[in-house]
Amino acid sequence: NRKFFVGGNWKMNGSKNSIDEICGWLTAGDRGDTEVVVGPPTIYLGYVQGKLAGSGVQAAAQNCYKVPKGAFTGENSPAMIKDIGCEWVILGHSERRNVFGETDELIAEKIEHALAEGLKVIACIGEKLEEREAGKTEEVVFRQTQAFKDKVQDWSKVVLAYEPVWAIGTGKVATPKQAQEVHASLRTWLSENVSPAVANSLRIIYGGSVSANNCKDLATQGDIDGFLVGGASLKPDFVQIINARK
Ligand code: 13P
Repeated sequence: NRKFFVGGNWKMNGSKNSIDEICGWLTAGDRGDTEVVVGPPTIYLGYVQGKLAGSGVQAAAQNCYKVPKGAFTGENSPAMIKDIGCEWVILGHSERRNVFGETDELIAEKIEHALAEGLKVIACIGEKLEEREAGKTEEVVFRQTQAFKDKVQDWSKVVLAYEPVWAIGTGKVATPKQAQEVHASLRTWLSENVSPAVANSLRIIYGGSVSANNCKDLATQGDIDGFLVGGASLKPDFVQIINARK
């Protein structure tokens, strides 16, 4: 009963020309019952919204700040994202954490504010290679989730993205078993620390080197409710990933 969800995180990629092409195959392709959300760079968000209008494919911002407006050069607020008709924001991505130094605390503040302003949030968590090798995967993803869990009132507005950092952009996808294990532990943790109802209904999606080749095996795992796709979301392969459950 959890609707399959596939997000495309374009990161800092794209041009008007490539966006025209991507939106062309996205809106033409069969998407079945999958909920599809693509995240262009903020400067193209309005342009993409225009291209996707009426298609059922939604757009997301890749980041936002934690207050509505003010002297915060370079930032965008949830109010602005909503103002251009966009309903989603990706928060807590590992590149925000590791390249831009965002802390669990800042991410929690952003999630709280984005939800309060009426956006839906794709909240990202995931361990680094050394953390996995040290047997700390669960400790890390539980800590990252714990940091924002009390800021969420309506979990139906949240999708949780498990993205092991070692799998992002590396071509080293987690095996279906590795991903399923973490998703299942997260669901157990949510059941104990939020509620069984939330644990049962929250979509937990996997991200990290998802491709047209590996998506079907991942999609058969009981606790994997979709994907957050980077590189492959810029290619026609994305349509195959959207249809991974078929
Ligand atoms: P790749 O699919 O390029 O590994 O990126 C995953 C990701 O970071 C999505 O947010």
